[in-house]
Amino acid sequence: MQKNYSYPKNQKRLFHITPSLQFIFMCLFFIGSYSKTLSQEYFQQELNYKIHVSLNDVLHELNAFETLEYINHSPDTLHFLYFHLWPNAYSNNNTPLARQLFQLYGREKLFNDPELRGAIDSLDFEVSGRNVHWNLLPGQPDICRINLDVPLIPGDSIQITTPFRVKIPKGVTSRLGHIGESYQISQWYPKPAVYDRAGWHPISYLDQGEFFSEFGRFDVRITLPANYIVGASGNLQNDNEIKMLDKLSADTSRIKTANSVENDFPVSSKQLKTLRYTADKIHDFAWFADKRFHVQKGKVKLPNSGREVTTMVLFTNEQADLWKDALQYADKAIWWLSDKIGDYPYQNFTAVQSALTSGDGMEYPGITVIGLAEDAYSLDEVISHEICHNWFYSALGSNERRYTYMDESITTAYTARYMDKKYPGKKLWEVYVKNRKLAKFIHVDKMPIQRMQELEWLIQARNNLEQPINLPANEYTELNYILMLYNKAATAFNYLRAYLGDSVFDAAMQEYFRQWKNKHPQPEDLREIFETHTGKDLSWFFTDLMGTTKRLDYKMVRIENQQVLIKNKGELVSPLVIAGMTGDSIFFEKWVGGFEGQKWIDLPAGDYSEIKIDPGHVMPEIFRMNNNIKKTGTFPRADPLRTQLLFSVDNPETHTLIYMPAINWTRENGFMLGMAFHNGFIIPKPLEYFVMPFYAFGNSDLGGFGRINYNITPYDNFIRLATLSFEGTQFGAPGHQNFRKLKTGLKLDFRNKKMTHPLNQSVFGNYIAASNLFQIELQEKAKMNSYFQFGYLLEKASVINPYTLLASFESGKTYKKTSVELNYRLSYWGLNNGLDMRLFAGTILKTDSKIPFYAFSASGRSGREQYFYQGTYPDRFSVFPENFFSRQMTLSEGGLVSPVNDSLGYSRWLFSLSLTSNLPGKAAQFPVKPFLNLLLNDHDINATQNSPFFYEAGLKAGIWGFFEMYIPILVSKNIDSISGTFKNRIRFVFSLDSISKLKLHGNR
Ligand SMILES: [Zn+2]
Repeated sequence: MQKNYSYPKNQKRLFHITPSLQFIFMCLFFIGSYSKTLSQEYFQQELNYKIHVSLNDVLHELNAFETLEYINHSPDTLHFLYFHLWPNAYSNNNTPLARQLFQLYGREKLFNDPELRGAIDSLDFEVSGRNVHWNLLPGQPDICRINLDVPLIPGDSIQITTPFRVKIPKGVTSRLGHIGESYQISQWYPKPAVYDRAGWHPISYLDQGEFFSEFGRFDVRITLPANYIVGASGNLQNDNEIKMLDKLSADTSRIKTANSVENDFPVSSKQLKTLRYTADKIHDFAWFADKRFHVQKGKVKLPNSGREVTTMVLFTNEQADLWKDALQYADKAIWWLSDKIGDYPYQNFTAVQSALTSGDGMEYPGITVIGLAEDAYSLDEVISHEICHNWFYSALGSNERRYTYMDESITTAYTARYMDKKYPGKKLWEVYVKNRKLAKFIHVDKMPIQRMQELEWLIQARNNLEQPINLPANEYTELNYILMLYNKAATAFNYLRAYLGDSVFDAAMQEYFRQWKNKHPQPEDLREIFETHTGKDLSWFFTDLMGTTKRLDYKMVRIENQQVLIKNKGELVSPLVIAGMTGDSIFFEKWVGGFEGQKWIDLPAGDYSEIKIDPGHVMPEIFRMNNNIKKTGTFPRADPLRTQLLFSVDNPETHTLIYMPAINWTRENGFMLGMAFHNGFIIPKPLEYFVMPFYAFGNSDLGGFGRINYNITPYDNFIRLATLSFEGTQFGAPGHQNFRKLKTGLKLDFRNKKMTHPLNQSVFGNYIAASNLFQIELQEKAKMNSYFQFGYLLEKASVINPYTLLASFESGKTYKKTSVELNYRLSYWGLNNGLDMRLFAGTILKTDSKIPFYAFSASGRSGREQYFYQGTYPDRFSVFPENFFSRQMTLSEGGLVSPVNDSLGYSRWLFSLSLTSNLPGKAAQFPVKPFLNLLLNDHDINATQNSPFFYEAGLKAGIWGFFEMYIPILVSKNIDSISGTFKNRIRFVFSLDSISKLKLHGNR
């Protein structure tokens, strides 16, 4: 599959599922299989299929009969067989597919919709003409076990037959489906699981995670209305149909631009036709049918053998403009890949444009289906990628589910190499920015297109969120599935190639293809060939780079006497390339074997000014700022500093100082004009800063905010990220003075053992010094008060039922207090629909203070917002309900909206529950939600209103998370008695912070 590169804005976290029967079963299999000796001779089973299938395009059904010869080449006697019945993955909400879609995307109860449901039924397995017992596996209705009455002894074969019917789901969920009368028929027939030296490999169908199947011969007959055009694996046997496709191809060629908007389905003809496809030594068979297809056919002569391959592209009017060149893309890629790896393994290749809902394209033997493409370059890239899968997946039938990198990463590496060759000098902005002037303005006009892969990967790597490359597909987070397997691992294979040299790498890969073509290679097989062929120990690649998250970071230390001292700061001990440069021109390049610690390296004499590690970005280097050193100068290791107005894409090789004008307003400062400076917030850096000074015209003074973060990301440690931060704030206060705040803190984010079911835990400690609020309010010269905060944060950031739990302790000179806050969303459906609950409980542990606001407040703003000067309040010191900004609040502590603090005073303890929910049904799309707040505290308001229990209910409206207006309509008597009119209870939350938080914390 080709995964699209769009980087999700919020990293979706996965949802915990209870240990399933599937897991228990898998464990049993593995225990069973590992007890077998792996030193057995390699063998593989042989399967010969005959399938006759009819398409019913009214009911969207397949009716078929399958005859399968199973030849047991293993040394074991088989008493049962596992069969995959993958259309059943769409049959209910508890299949492994349904559970994965729920986990990854929060798609809940998907298969309650009869249109989305798919299934395989009417099965009636017979072995050698006799009925057999078979059953679906518990929790895995897409796998069945067939018991053999007569055991299948080594070398013997049996014939298995079954009728079957497939209900084709609407094609919006995964790889099998139909959109109207356009059919994508993949993973559709009963097929045995792989049996190899490690035993059985029954695997459920998943969206994130591909396949593993036995090789064999296919003879497939497809009956359908005569005006369908079909693309399929294998070789078409009907001469009439071949002539018809040739004729259509000639017609399509005459249509220079087939960009008609007309894309309706013609009526299906009454007459039926039966097409026959045969193929030998393939492990899967897919087909695609549509009545609207344009056809273009061609031939490509393979470079070394001279053999001719027939190529065909099928496309509708939808992107006909782009697809008119697709045949050339296919021909060129097949030629080039055959030259590099070995002959294209089949006689035919077909690329089909169709609605596709998993990734940009999906590969099957000899055929690929491609979704909508962004532009010509992207279409060429995705077609080339899928074509490359004919080597790495089709012919080299590795276990994609277990070792996804053996197909996806190698395929992506070859695609990148091919596209680089075909489009030399292609720039990143041409695909991602599109506008040359803008690209020049933000200094990305020179970045090569390949840099995007590196930048995306760096975000995850610098956050210390990587996973090893050799994990099973379903153990990756959604993001890491792309960033580890497509971005990092593809770079890694091209790094290995750069180190070995193209000819050595190509020769090794050709040998791998020759030896393992139409077989099931394992990672050790690939490694053995590379090591034997190169005579090198490649453990740094196969053990460390593929199997761990060890990081690659070499650092230039100093130059002396025609030698350079380099230090390995990473954990990976792998080869590096150094180059002597003057400007952008390379004087020499030299590979050096990996080493630990420091090493002196000889430099050739010459007229170059700088030595650089990896100028071509072939190594997955995590920090490039320390990669260069000048031969002379006072600061030979100084990195280039670049200034940039407004915004830039981070360049890992340079310090970028980004600046932008900023305006601000507070009641005391008046209008402020300033400048924000930071060093980029897209890719995390060890040192990050954000400084925003202002000149205030109202009080002719200075104000502003600044923060510096120092981030430490230890390798393989229970601490994932340690952040040391320093922060300072100064703005105006009443009485011609300023309030000031200094904060220094340490936050430790712990590592999740299981990345797919993350519960993020962190602890923090802060020291805060802030102007004494009491003195500020009295307009006296304010002293600085000291405070400590400690806390623990537990976060489940899943799509469904996310929550955060914060337990904190705070102390000042005169008080100590503790509180717990739980925010929980009970999801109804989709991403933003649910019941939001907030529970808060807090108590004062000790207080000597006469100052009330250190205690808990029943309604926002709480004391904390005031004495810590938290949040962004343009009119922080205003008295409610004096003016508009005095109605601004933050939902904290007691959580009441109605302003009761002045009458009630502060509480020694309080307990509150706040509920807010989407409106039901379609009304959910209105920006209105009802809310209910309940509060209990240690005292009442006065003798006449002597209940310590408060409630309020009302509506809130606005832009969620940014500006929310709260209107309490129903309130308890005690609130009613003090809050005056209904109008005086209306308040708002204006989260200016949400913008700046986004800036500073990026993806953390
Ligand atoms: Zn792929």
